[in-house]
Order: sequence, then C-alpha cells, then structure tokens
Amino acid sequence: MCEIPIEKKCTKCHIVKSIDEYHAAKKGKYGKSATCKLCFRKWQINNSEHLAEYKRIYGVKNRKKISQVQKLYALKNKESIREQKKKYEHENKDRITKQRAQYYLATKPLRNLASSEYYHKNKETLAAQQKEYRKENREKIKEYQNKYQEENREKIKEYSKKYNEENKEYIADYGKKYREDNKEVITIRDKKRMNIYRDNLTDSYIKSLLCDNSKIPRECIPQEMIELKRLQLKIKRELENQKWM
Ligand SMILES: [Zn+2]
Repeated sequence: MCEIPIEKKCTKCHIVKSIDEYHAAKKGKYGKSATCKLCFRKWQINNSEHLAEYKRIYGVKNRKKISQVQKLYALKNKESIREQKKKYEHENKDRITKQRAQYYLATKPLRNLASSEYYHKNKETLAAQQKEYRKENREKIKEYQNKYQEENREKIKEYSKKYNEENKEYIADYGKKYREDNKEVITIRDKKRMNIYRDNLTDSYIKSLLCDNSKIPRECIPQEMIELKRLQLKIKRELENQKWM
C-alpha cells in the first residue's frame, strides 16, 4: 500500500499543490482527481453549456434512479441535512428574506390570476363549502365577531365613518339602484318587519306612532312617554281581543 502524500502535481496546470486542493475521486491516484480544484472549476465554467445539456439528458434518462438515490440520501442524512439547512439559513438570513420578498412580489400577479381562475372554475363548490362551514361554526363565528367588535369598537367606528364619507355618492347611487331593482322584495320585507315591530311593540315602532301623531322629532321623545304609549296599546289590544271572545 502506498502512503498518501501531502502534495501532488496537477496534470493540467502542472503546479504542485496540497492534497486538499484536489477533489475526491474513487478511481484517481491516492483517491484524488488528477486536476486541482481550480482547474476543475475552470473546466466546469468553460463547459457549462455542454454540462447542463448532459445533466438534462441524464436526468430525463435516469429520473427514477435519481429520485430513489435522492430519497435514500435524504433519509440517511436527515439530521445533518436539517443542521446544514439551519446553519445556512442563519448565516444568510438577510439575503433569504430579501429573496423571498422579491419572489413574492414577482409572482403576485401570477398567483392572483391563478386564484381568480380557480375561484371562477370552482365558484359553486366554494360557495357551498363556505355556507356549510358557516352553518357548522355559527356559534364560533359569532363569538369571534363579537369579540373583535368589542375590542375594536373605536377603530371600526372611525373606519366606517371615513368610508361612508369617502363613498357618499357611490353609496347613494347603489342604494337607489338596489331599491329600484328590488322594489317588491323590499316592500314585502318592510311589511314583515313592521308586523314584527307591531306585534312586539318595540320602542322604534311606538316612537314612529308618536312622531306621526305629535310631530315631535324622534330623538326628543322621552322614554316615559314610550312606556305609557306601550301600556295604552297593550290595554287596547287586550280589550279588542276580549270583544271577539
Ligand atoms: Zn491545476
């Protein structure tokens, strides 16, 4: 057996270099390649096009084999790969963050397009899914909404005020168009609502009666007056019911 020397001469540049300057090569002398790392790199760069083509063809021909080898390698070196990845990510934190942001921005239009296409293709399924979800999680959603509203009361108020001011015309136009397009539905809805208010003698129903009769502005009607009117209406209804018995 021959001993591994500390140095050897590169067959390309003919410079004697440390054995660490050579890549490992199973079939090479002393288990090292004949040319030094620098010469190898130069060769790689000079033949990059040719190499890429070779790699592509090799990849197509050996797809199964490559994926098997890769899988096996990944499985065998799980821990060290994870460590390497961690180390790399830590050392290149800023660069990775920047790259990710750039990638995110560059692919945004593509993503938007894909998601809108997906949305249009699956509109009905998605709507049904959403409906089902809302139905099954009604309590949870309500709880979440209530909590959010309570915690952000001021913010919401401010936001909606700003929104209404900025979109005054649009809102007015939209409302007008909606009322025109849905005349019948609205009439039925209002009637239904009014019936509920009347049956329950709500404050707002009583207020509207008092306004019609007395011409007092809504906001000036005292609560005592509402209570009195409610009592009066209750008695009146009771008497009417008895008449029919
Ligand atoms: Zn060399």
